[in-house]
Amino acid sequence: MTNKEKLKAQLDALRQSFIEQLPKRLDTLESHLQKWCQTWDESARVEFHRAVHSLVGAGATFGCEALSNVTRTLEQQLVSVDLARDLDVVEAMLQQVRVAIQQVGQEVDCEDFELPAAAVPRTSRCGRVVYLLEDAEKSGENLAIKLEHFGYKIDLFVSASDLTAATRIQRPAAIIAEIVLLEGGVAGIDVIKAINAEQAESIPTIFISDCCDFEVRLESIRAGGRAYFKKPLSIEPLVDMLDELTTIEEVQSYRILIVDDSRSQATYYASLLGQAGMETELVTDPQQVLEAIKAFSPELVLMDMYMPYCSGVELALMIRQQPAYLGLPIVFLSAETDRNIQLDAMSMGGDDFLLKPIKPINLIKSVSIRAERYRGLGLRMSEDSLTGLLNHRRVMEALTQEVARISRHGGCASFAMLDIDHFKWVNDHHGHAMGDRVIKSLARLLKQRLRNIDVIGRYGGDEFAVIMPETPLAVAVRVMDEVRQGFAELLHHAGGQDISVTLSGGLAAAPAIGDVDKLRETADQMLCQAKYKGRNQVVTVDTPD
Ligand code: GH3
Ligand code: MG
Repeated sequence: MTNKEKLKAQLDALRQSFIEQLPKRLDTLESHLQKWCQTWDESARVEFHRAVHSLVGAGATFGCEALSNVTRTLEQQLVSVDLARDLDVVEAMLQQVRVAIQQVGQEVDCEDFELPAAAVPRTSRCGRVVYLLEDAEKSGENLAIKLEHFGYKIDLFVSASDLTAATRIQRPAAIIAEIVLLEGGVAGIDVIKAINAEQAESIPTIFISDCCDFEVRLESIRAGGRAYFKKPLSIEPLVDMLDELTTIEEVQSYRILIVDDSRSQATYYASLLGQAGMETELVTDPQQVLEAIKAFSPELVLMDMYMPYCSGVELALMIRQQPAYLGLPIVFLSAETDRNIQLDAMSMGGDDFLLKPIKPINLIKSVSIRAERYRGLGLRMSEDSLTGLLNHRRVMEALTQEVARISRHGGCASFAMLDIDHFKWVNDHHGHAMGDRVIKSLARLLKQRLRNIDVIGRYGGDEFAVIMPETPLAVAVRVMDEVRQGFAELLHHAGGQDISVTLSGGLAAAPAIGDVDKLRETADQMLCQAKYKGRNQVVTVDTPD
């Protein structure tokens, strides 16, 4: 079965179960009406109205157009009807609803929809193998060692022909090429041109050279060179450029929260959005919405208009009362055709109003465009400007989410806090700019050594925090200790000399500690112990003295 066939089968099954439940829904409708006629109670009228409205929406969603139309007319009449006088009008309409329900099974659902390509493709970070062309072997080896400290695997080639042969076997993430080789002229540029002529897509290349002639630089650009560094090389800017050229961030699916008291409709929309690569969570009880937003951290809420207890508009207002969710897109999806009610809904916290029935492609487009815009906005606000890592607030939000996920679905996670040792000394002796470079190099190391699913943040100053989902404490300690070692081995160029800097770390894990604040406190206490025990080490509750 293709994905499209699978989705079609899933949606057909949902439609079928909706049709099977229609007689029961009709009973409910009739008993609500009866109760209303007997009691003249406003709450009974509201119940009846809601049952009618829900059929308008569900009918539209599940392709039962005639049923949706007749219930819509009934709903419109309910607004103006004086039941004492016009009961026979309502009865007549209800009879039409009965007929429509009987005919539903005979309608053929011939809707064949166009399935859009996944809205959010998942890509993985490409490899970190870098080819280095440098015929001065010693200086090539020296550069390779320095770059390997930053997590790159460097293959050194001293001849252009060996480099060409290697690119035919494995495409590297990037090439660093010396321009002036023994062959003479600008042989380094010529070989890159020849290599790229064989590739479907150019390999990102950085040229390095003693020479800084305009002509040579121009040639390097014409050969597709993405950067040009003059020797003697400064390692940090070179690594920054390599990072830029070789990192493809993993694209995470958009997270969409669907709020609808009808589980079948919520499931229907979840299937469509899921097919387009989005992650969905359903809430059928409006009272659970705020908690779900906190735990799932959606990038868009798709909201039904009419639900028991409270309306979608009231829920939207409640969500908006929290400053953190002021920008969260809320999109109403409803069969409500009254333009005034739609506009009211939008003026009271909604961002958009989608009318049921909606074509799958239109639903997916509307949702993904808004989620994308929100994510773009969110990322800019959540990043630390020096390192590009998440800021303090976002790390704590992510930790809260992770702990909530574990308490609901099981699993585990480790949380680490890291702090650079004697960082004031670095600032005082080598200047603030040097301190900044050290902070950036730790950020880079963490990004390179950890997995895409790990959450890395700059907690503040020289302090960092890492959340490692699905990682038991023992494994996390090993990983963090590797980071510690890797960091200690880095050489930072400070004026005429190279200095090395170390870090200390403290770890704690959930579910052994199931409370966010306690988790953070424990990791912090462990970090203090690491400092106390002499720094340059990683400590956890179980670390032997
Ligand atoms: P310890 O080993 O106990 O951690 O000693 P320390 O010197 O590292 O002490 P602490 O962690 O308290 O020092 C943090 C210093 O980091 C203090 C502050 O001046 C400096 N700092 C904070 N933010 C920045 C920044 O963005 N850039 C630079 N260069 N320094 C910063
Ligand atoms: Mg420190």
